[in-house]
Amino acid sequence: MADFDAIVVGSGCAGPVAAYELARGGKSVLIVERGNFPGAKNMSGGRLYAHSLRQVFPDFTSSAPLERRITRERISLLAPDSCVTIEASDQAMRTERGESYSVLRARFDPWLAERAEEAGAEAIAGIAVESLLKDGSRVSGVRAGDDEITADVVILADGVNSLLSAQAVGAPRPAPNQVAVGVKQVVELPAQVISDRFQVADESEGAAWLFVGDATHGRVGGGFLYTNRDTISVGLVATVADLVKADTPVYQMLEDFKNHPALAPVLAGGKVVEHSGHLVAEGGFDAMPPLVADGVLLAGENAMMCVNAGYTVRGMDLAIAAGMHAGQAAKAALDAGDTSAEGLAGYKRALQDSFVLKDLRTLRRFPAFMEHTSRMFDTYPELAGAVMRELFLVDGRPVRPLRKAVMPILRRVGLGHLASDALRGVRAL
Ligand SMILES: Cc1cc2nc3c(=O)[nH]c(=O)nc-3n(C[C@H](O)[C@H](O)[C@H](O)COP(=O)(O)OP(=O)(O)OC[C@H]3O[C@@H](n4cnc5c(N)ncnc54)[C@H](O)[C@@H]3O)c2cc1C
Repeated sequence: MADFDAIVVGSGCAGPVAAYELARGGKSVLIVERGNFPGAKNMSGGRLYAHSLRQVFPDFTSSAPLERRITRERISLLAPDSCVTIEASDQAMRTERGESYSVLRARFDPWLAERAEEAGAEAIAGIAVESLLKDGSRVSGVRAGDDEITADVVILADGVNSLLSAQAVGAPRPAPNQVAVGVKQVVELPAQVISDRFQVADESEGAAWLFVGDATHGRVGGGFLYTNRDTISVGLVATVADLVKADTPVYQMLEDFKNHPALAPVLAGGKVVEHSGHLVAEGGFDAMPPLVADGVLLAGENAMMCVNAGYTVRGMDLAIAAGMHAGQAAKAALDAGDTSAEGLAGYKRALQDSFVLKDLRTLRRFPAFMEHTSRMFDTYPELAGAVMRELFLVDGRPVRPLRKAVMPILRRVGLGHLASDALRGVRAL
């Protein structure tokens, strides 16, 4: 007989939710986390779209350590000398459909892990699972340090750059164009100063701000800024394949980004209290490995469950939903006494019916669009700045008709390039 019904590897977003579903279904479950505590090694921008968390914990707002509810959106095209921004606020962001919050993972992940433990899951932290135990081709447990622990089913929720998914389902190492490097700082400022700078009513509300262009020195990727209660999360994500061609190291890009004239005033006077770096999955639907094999399931970013659509970055809500479906499918398979790949196949069916695989499939062309449209990251931000300059700089010279002022700028890019990039962008989204 196995030591546990189920073992969950990783206590980020997917893992604790899977363990919670199993524990509340009466199964014995162990969560193994390599960080000294859940969240110790984890990082996101981080904006949590709350719909999937609400499905598992309908009353989460009463106890979850949420920072600010996002009620203001900004997207900027950033060039070295200019910043063109679209800003949106909408009452819909205050409804359940528009519910999203900034979160800090060092606070959020322990809360999520506590929910699983409260339901009856056991948890150990500070130990990495080094390899999987196998009985023939079937996964039968984990090896962590000197310990070998067996289970009828193992749920891998070990995040991006998993060292275990190859052993479980033969997943290849992610290619350099399928992962990006993220670097982030948390900058402390008084809560009221943050509310004033982002024009939100009080510290319960906040802003999300994404940047394309000079944040990454024109490399494939983007910058982000999220307001927390009394801190601001600021950082950037840059695709590894393109980053290796850059002259500037990524930490210098972040410094330059923070000092850009569009950003410096909103961070002025702030104190950096945290610095972190992490990979993020960018490969999307076409880079996903098999999700199920005999005795094992993959949930979250280890299976590329992350969507970057340029205007949103989402991995946490996908991981939480995948964790929920993995836990439920594992429980059903344990109840039926069949944890083979066939017995666990309900997981894949549930994901196919859910937004997780639907959204990944819908946006499957976006990673390639980003990779092959380098003009998005240098030419178009410059172009937007140049057009705005024509509109708003008044110096006593006779005004030119707008078409005459703008056409030479557009011709510099090439009307054919513009049209084909726009078409491919629309198709990718
Ligand atoms: C810079 C950046 C910005 C992002 N911004 C956003 C955002 O704004 N919104 C959003 O929704 N998503 C965002 N994401 C993505 C999001 O953080 C991830 O998609 C999400 O955390 C994935 O959840 P997960 O449970 O799959 O993995 P994780 O949350 O990474 O958890 C994996 C866990 O497994 C543990 N682990 C790994 N290997 C082992 C092992 N061998 N043994 C034991 N434990 C192990 C890790 O320590 C970790 O705790 C961002 C990511 C980055 C890097």
